[in-house]
Amino acid sequence: RNYRAQIDYRPLSMFDSVNENRISVCVRKRPLNKKELTKAEVDVITIPSRDITILHQPQTRVDLTKYLDNQKFRFDYSFDEYANNELVYRFTAAPLVKTIFDNGNATCFAYGQTGSGKTHTMGGDFSGKKQNAAMGIYALTARDVFRMLEQPQYRRKDLSVHCAFFEIYGTKTFDLLNEKAELRVLEDKMQKVQVVGLKEEQAMNENDVLELINKGTLVRTAGTTSANANSSRSHAIFQIILRQGKKVWGKFSLIDLAGNERGQDTRECDRDTRKEGANINQSLLALKECIRGMARNSSHVPFRQSKLTMVLRDSFIGEKSRTVMISMISPGISSSDHTLNTLRYADRVKEMGTDGSGEATPIRDEELFIPQSMEKSDDEYDEE
Ligand code: ADP
Ligand code: MG
Repeated sequence: RNYRAQIDYRPLSMFDSVNENRISVCVRKRPLNKKELTKAEVDVITIPSRDITILHQPQTRVDLTKYLDNQKFRFDYSFDEYANNELVYRFTAAPLVKTIFDNGNATCFAYGQTGSGKTHTMGGDFSGKKQNAAMGIYALTARDVFRMLEQPQYRRKDLSVHCAFFEIYGTKTFDLLNEKAELRVLEDKMQKVQVVGLKEEQAMNENDVLELINKGTLVRTAGTTSANANSSRSHAIFQIILRQGKKVWGKFSLIDLAGNERGQDTRECDRDTRKEGANINQSLLALKECIRGMARNSSHVPFRQSKLTMVLRDSFIGEKSRTVMISMISPGISSSDHTLNTLRYADRVKEMGTDGSGEATPIRDEELFIPQSMEKSDDEYDEE
């Protein structure tokens, strides 16, 4: 299946700047993993061009060879399984680095079900000790922040770089750079939200940031047998803060969201787990509403509806704020329900975001190329 190598992700021209939208929504498909390959799972996602994603929905659970109408979506970018972190970064978070040098707030979300690649994309693939592992968006952003600081116009401004790393678990907030100390989130009379006690570490160079990412990541996963057991239920927020003296100059928030399937499992029998799911659901709904409020330039952004949107309040207000959401999807047929939910969520966020008109650009037939294997029945397909 080498039809995909044809996608050209480069900007169309120098002036088709990578992405100038205040809000952009992208999709990233990961490759089939070993487990899926072993089960000979069908790949139900096609990305025929750099902005279109197609989900081939199975018609019945029993006969997987019958496909419903293909569900087509257009996003600012659709990244296929051949795109690496560097490429995804270049078209998502990278264009936002200049925002924080321009006194603005930049925010990048990784959304999607557990196992779809959120942590791989944001944190990279280092297990704490592996050197030279694939850098994620946290590290790539830090690299570019220090590159920007080298520019003469910014070098003169006497800016310093600081990092914070914390986690929201249910209604609680924990500091990942300070041994999971519990933090309080308060709103003052001016509606400014404070995460009281949050530790901020200064970083002198890119390496310092990498160490802080490492440290926080280890703290986040400590005490759990699988990296996903705990992290799929919490939102992790990594912030790169530019300061001039004590004043905040700009802030880049990079968020590895809780698995979105957690909010959908209402049949979960354990009461605490159910409550946890409801909490995640509420925060993801609030997030969608806040981004939509931001797109409308609304003075009313319902940030109080969840802890997550409260601590990110500054991300949703101000002319200079910019946001990108990367929706991660698993390619396997066994994930197709969650994948459809993820794509619909992303579509709702984008609807208002792109130009505020709510009008989607129609998808033309010639933009679609569906591999033949998706149209024919094939006896090899496994039954569930
Ligand atoms: P999540 O954080 O969304 O639960 P992970 O990032 O932990 O998912 O990804 C699950 C597994 O899939 C990990 O082993 C990760 O290394 C792998 N993976 C995810 N995305 C990719 C990708 N684009 N390329 C290769 N492996 C990936
Ligand atoms: Mg994860």
